[in-house]
Amino acid sequence: MTTFPLSRRDLLASLSSAALVGLSASAAAAENATPELIDVHLHIASSRLSRSTGNEALPEPFDQTLQPGGFERLGAQIAQELRGAGVTQGLCMPSTEISDADPLGIQRSLTQAKHIAGVKLHAIGLAHPERFDLDHLKRVEAVLESGAVKALKAYLGYLHYDPYSVGYRAYFRLAAKYKIPVIFHTGDTNSERAKLKHAHPLAIDEIAVDFPHTNFVLAHFGNPWVLDAAQVMYKNPNVWVDLSAFLVGTAEQFATMHQSGVVERTVERVREGIEFVEASDRFLFGSDWPLAPIAAYRDVVAKMFPANERAGVFADNAKRLFRLS
Ligand SMILES: [Zn+2]
Repeated sequence: MTTFPLSRRDLLASLSSAALVGLSASAAAAENATPELIDVHLHIASSRLSRSTGNEALPEPFDQTLQPGGFERLGAQIAQELRGAGVTQGLCMPSTEISDADPLGIQRSLTQAKHIAGVKLHAIGLAHPERFDLDHLKRVEAVLESGAVKALKAYLGYLHYDPYSVGYRAYFRLAAKYKIPVIFHTGDTNSERAKLKHAHPLAIDEIAVDFPHTNFVLAHFGNPWVLDAAQVMYKNPNVWVDLSAFLVGTAEQFATMHQSGVVERTVERVREGIEFVEASDRFLFGSDWPLAPIAAYRDVVAKMFPANERAGVFADNAKRLFRLS
């Protein structure tokens, strides 16, 4: 019996912005809607990971922003997607392309966010493991001082550096100083050019111990190494988890995955990790849009937690960690 109509690799390769935007906004009514929804893992601008990893199969719904009026058009589509899912605030992943004028890779996100009405969007800056020279770090600190970013992101695996590489350490210290967390990509990568050994969640234990004043987020709960990630989180009070990208696809593909039992089995697998951690107050909702329709993914994450814990996972935990109002 075939349970997966397509593999996750195939799904990722087949995704296009046209298929996702619009379809997902009309996705099933919010079975488990909460008054507030904060999505801590959005890509509203290209991360340029495909360029740095040589993987052409990554979806690039952002190409239209190269055309005149493109930011406006895509902005209207993204706003429809976010508001249709009930998202009130969102955190936006950075580009891996940086410059002196944009040392944290946030300019495209900020430009795009201006054209997305009705949702409070915040930028996440790039921790670039090759840029720890003092001049660069001075420019980084100036951005952090201005309050323009709510977190830093390290693209583990895609960039071939371990989390404890010397190049990341200054960023961990700055994050503690400015009271913002550092988010790591952990687990499976959407690129054959990426190296998994850098993205295993167990590696975060070492820096969680060495940098006790910095908060760290394991994006994707280390999938498929969920129990390893759960152990790192259970032991270290400064480690949090975002639950994005356990399933990817269009709204139609999500409906198929519900019918075939894939959603149920995935939820069970994640719940094993959540139960190991014994508390839900450091779990965060993230969709990894445009890889998944937000409304459909929200309904999947809702199944991972009892009703009385959902407000925390969908909003309150993120408010505490990122100091959002
Ligand atoms: Zn992502």
